Amino acid sequence: MRELWVYAELLDGQWSGVSLELLTQGRVLCGAGGLTLCAVVRGADVAQLDELYRFGAERVYLLQGAVESLLSTVVRAVERYRPEIFLLGATMSGRQLAPMVAARVGTGLTADCTGLELDGNTGLLLMSRPACGGQLMATIVCPDHRPQMATVRSGVFAAEPLMEYCAGEPVLVEGDDVAAPRMRRLRSVRTEAGEAVDLHAARLVVAGGRGVGGAEGFRLMEALATALDGVVGASRGTVDAGWISSSRLVGQSGKTISPELYVACGISGAIPHVVGMQSAGLVVAINADPTAPIFDVADIGLVGDLHEVVPEWLRQLRDEAVD
Ligand SMILES: Cc1cc2nc3c(=O)[nH]c(=O)nc-3n(C[C@H](O)[C@H](O)[C@H](O)COP(=O)(O)OP(=O)(O)OC[C@H]3O[C@@H](n4cnc5c(N)ncnc54)[C@H](O)[C@@H]3O)c2cc1C
Repeated sequence: MRELWVYAELLDGQWSGVSLELLTQGRVLCGAGGLTLCAVVRGADVAQLDELYRFGAERVYLLQGAVESLLSTVVRAVERYRPEIFLLGATMSGRQLAPMVAARVGTGLTADCTGLELDGNTGLLLMSRPACGGQLMATIVCPDHRPQMATVRSGVFAAEPLMEYCAGEPVLVEGDDVAAPRMRRLRSVRTEAGEAVDLHAARLVVAGGRGVGGAEGFRLMEALATALDGVVGASRGTVDAGWISSSRLVGQSGKTISPELYVACGISGAIPHVVGMQSAGLVVAINADPTAPIFDVADIGLVGDLHEVVPEWLRQLRDEAVD
């Protein structure tokens, strides 16, 4: 049986979004390639596994043993069951684990992918990601070694559960017991919601680029986002200039998001930005330059000065509210 593995991670007792997204996309790849979708997990109760089956896992490998033996346990599992494809979230632990596993089992790894497909002729996994400083998109294949490994950032794929699914018995993979653990949890630090916005959860994002002209320009973005019941995002040009917090950054070095509506104001549409928002439902771009690449990915393009277009949009929204 040829298998596609997804490493599923728990975060505060919940499956991380990217784990469920990878299972969802894994179903598509398995359908195209005749593979069996499997989840690989550590530290989960059997009751928590139900959610993985609901998102399409046909088999779950439950890794045993101390957390310190995670790497050797994963390597042992890969060498024993020989998956074709192994996908991990580009989370803090996925980014640590994936290269070490790849090195130990002697295969390659494509990090931070923004697209995964199967080649119709060769059956190879086509792993896409920005390359050369974001100037172009590269599609990488791993023809000679197994598994074909990739990390993927949260928000690239949608997470969709199945209406009907079959739960099974997990396969236990023995781990090593560590006689004298060298790691001890001193305390857990919870991230406070505070000022941070959840760009991933937002249905509508109004993003500002260098065209907003400065930190002041983000007031206009905030006004439009509030009027449309959305949140503000930003390009790297503005974050690097210190106009807005990096928590708002959309793109290769920020967040990959798929809101229902993405309004790009004064953003040129460089590849590293576009990979973070191209799966939005509807993209509206406002840019003074009619040749700006953002118009290539926009469903609706408005050529003009955003300092005129956005206030006019706000005025119309206010008029509609009064009517
Ligand atoms: C390794 C790497 C990772 C990167 N990661 C990211 C990332 O995650 N996210 C990201 O965004 N970028 C990223 N970048 C940077 C990216 O390549 C671009 O430099 C950046 O996206 C440009 O930001 P911008 O569109 O705001 O600015 P610019 O490219 O300067 O574009 C400004 C746009 O505003 C328009 N404009 C100007 N004035 C007005 C006006 N009054 N009204 C309307 N339009 C106006 C202009 O026509 C122009 O198109 C990365 C680069 C590298 C090398």
